[in-house]
Amino acid sequence: MSNETIFDKIINREIPATIVYEDDIALAFEDINPQAPTHLLIIPKRRIATSNDIQQDDRETVGHLFWVAGEIARQQGFAEEGYRTVMNCNENGGQTVYHIHVHLLAGKAFGWPPY
Ligand code: C5P
Repeated sequence: MSNETIFDKIINREIPATIVYEDDIALAFEDINPQAPTHLLIIPKRRIATSNDIQQDDRETVGHLFWVAGEIARQQGFAEEGYRTVMNCNENGGQTVYHIHVHLLAGKAFGWPPY
């Protein structure tokens, strides 16, 4: 597939990552540069470049990413205390890897707004 990113290499086990969840649609792994005590990335196995590229046919996949976030939160025991999910888009959003991913951040209280 063209325009592969580093996340395809993680999906294909060509580079290492600490994987915490996997199913047919999604993969979740620890961010290598954590911004919170828990910082995971949840990605679809089928690449979608940015949130601008999500099509109607992708709704189930994208919804699944957020279901996985909640499932991990329940499994890891931080669902009740809370957490943050973020998907950055393009330059102003701070996106650096062009394969959509939900950041799942937990283990502290986050501020708002995100200056
Ligand atoms: O939202 P954004 O595109 O900036 O997020 C990309 C994330 O991917 C960063 O948090 C970065 O630390 C992470 N990353 C990673 N493993 C890599 C390359 C990037 O966890 N090999």
